[in-house]
Amino acid sequence: MKAAVWHAQRDVRVEDIPEPPSPPRGQVTIEASWTGICGTDLHEYTGGPIYIPTEVPHPLTGAIAPVVLGHETAGQVVAVGADVTRVEVGDRVALCPIIGCLECEWCRSGLMGLCPSIAFLGVSWHGGGFSRYVNVYDYMCYRLPPEVSYEMGALVEPFGAAYRAVKQAEVKPGETVAIVGSGPIGLMALQSARIQGAGQVISIEPAAKRQELALECEATAIIDPNAQDPVAGIAEYTNGAGADVVIECAGIAATGILAGRVARRKGRVVVMGVFEGPAPLDFTDLVYGEKTVMGSMGPYGVIDEVLQLMAEGKFNGEPLVTGKIDLDDIVSDGFEALIRNKDEIAKILVSPK
Ligand SMILES: [Zn+2]
Ligand SMILES: [Zn+2]
Repeated sequence: MKAAVWHAQRDVRVEDIPEPPSPPRGQVTIEASWTGICGTDLHEYTGGPIYIPTEVPHPLTGAIAPVVLGHETAGQVVAVGADVTRVEVGDRVALCPIIGCLECEWCRSGLMGLCPSIAFLGVSWHGGGFSRYVNVYDYMCYRLPPEVSYEMGALVEPFGAAYRAVKQAEVKPGETVAIVGSGPIGLMALQSARIQGAGQVISIEPAAKRQELALECEATAIIDPNAQDPVAGIAEYTNGAGADVVIECAGIAATGILAGRVARRKGRVVVMGVFEGPAPLDFTDLVYGEKTVMGSMGPYGVIDEVLQLMAEGKFNGEPLVTGKIDLDDIVSDGFEALIRNKDEIAKILVSPK
């Protein structure tokens, strides 16, 4: 079968690899329908390896580059291994990419995303969603409600990550949430903030197309940082106070600092952008404002809730999908297009068949 395989930075090849064996105990085989290209995939392409093991095999899974990419996947269960009770052949599922040890305090307390041995589908696993078939553990599978298409199913993982990030801030009804960056994750965080009861949701975003998308996702205001100082802009909308909650979804040095500064005194900042290296914060500002900065990693624990919200039509995934391509074109029309034209593109879905 064909697969998009990461060999090295700027070296992803669509090549023939063997189909996965029949699924071992506790695993199932998924036939992928759609897999989204994630910012993480792009970072691995342009700046990797970040999470891909290249020197020693991953301690939990034994995976090592070259690896098949792709972790935002929805598809059908086509085979089940021994002891699988969670899903059956024929089930339509979305995948949670997180693989845990199942034994540590985090895995046992429902916080598998914090497992110190964590591995990921399409990064540090024996397969990914950018191939027709992939074996995964049954606990990674979440049944799609009938109302949720495979296309929307491919958005479950990023929506879940954004939804969980907003949850960390415990938004109170009517609070003002500022979203720094309106790429796909920012747009999903924007929708999550609305669902979780925010009053104003303000997008800070320089690109025109993304500003448009933010409005489609019901941002109450847009601040263009090239046209206006965002700190002053947020102050204008909040009687000079600043945002109650800030979600950082851009992952560059300047936006990390900015996210802290636009928060009000006692404000909460949740960071979920993928930074390619350590980045600064304005600590004096954090100290004087007694602001809290927290991180959020992945969608584990909220996927059932997100599927329910999707089934009820509360998440609007349609405007986020700006491209659908074949696996053969993933480098030219996926990664390279995203680099050339990042501001015009939100989520690209890839059909691995
Ligand atoms: Zn992702
Ligand atoms: Zn663990």
